[in-house]
Amino acid sequence: MNVVLLGIPGSGKGTQADFLKNRLGLRTINTGDLLREAMKKKTELGKRTKEFMEKGDLVPDKILLDFIEEKIKEQKRSSGFVLDGFPRTLKQAEDLDLIFQKLGTELDCAIKLDISEKRARKRLEGRLVCPFCGAFFNLETNPPKDDILCDICGNKLVRRFDDNKETIATRIQVYREKTKPVENYYKKQGKLEIINGDAEADVVSRRIISVLGK
Ligand code: AMP
Repeated sequence: MNVVLLGIPGSGKGTQADFLKNRLGLRTINTGDLLREAMKKKTELGKRTKEFMEKGDLVPDKILLDFIEEKIKEQKRSSGFVLDGFPRTLKQAEDLDLIFQKLGTELDCAIKLDISEKRARKRLEGRLVCPFCGAFFNLETNPPKDDILCDICGNKLVRRFDDNKETIATRIQVYREKTKPVENYYKKQGKLEIINGDAEADVVSRRIISVLGK
């Protein structure tokens, strides 16, 4: 089963991608994580993408698409994918269909996690991540038990470099202008499912399982 998760930044795609990985054994491909790793390791890709990510703009397709195709092909023997953060433009959605075609498979479902822009902004402003184990928390909805320390490994939590007011505003605008049209692309294919994402994570997970018929 191949699933795409759509939704405004802060809508909970990362949390639900992890859930689908654990529950259905799907491989997750998270473009934001892959790009942040490339930046951290200062690879050629990381150097080329840094300025876009710091501003909250999309990384141009010509830099990203070959890289993503390679990542998907690496996983082609898995029982399916959940794509988190990709596609984010119509061109990426069309290219993803071509990649799946080449692999002899197709997308089963695009799930949009629906929350308001106001809610998304609030969630992003309160988000804390653990740089060591990758766990994330939210000062408002899921605070760490011990002030700013990770509940899982005890290390100090940090904010993501692009979770500041200005960059959040850009990311939301980019979503509105470039990513929202992707919903219609999947709607026309009869593959779009819209789920209310404004609830506890496990409630949203149950809604996802129900639309996937699992
Ligand atoms: P995310 O972790 O999904 O919020 O993504 C963080 C940043 O990575 C975005 O603001 C973009 O700069 C970049 N990025 C992630 N996925 C894509 C994509 N599919 N296309 C272009 N840029 C992306």
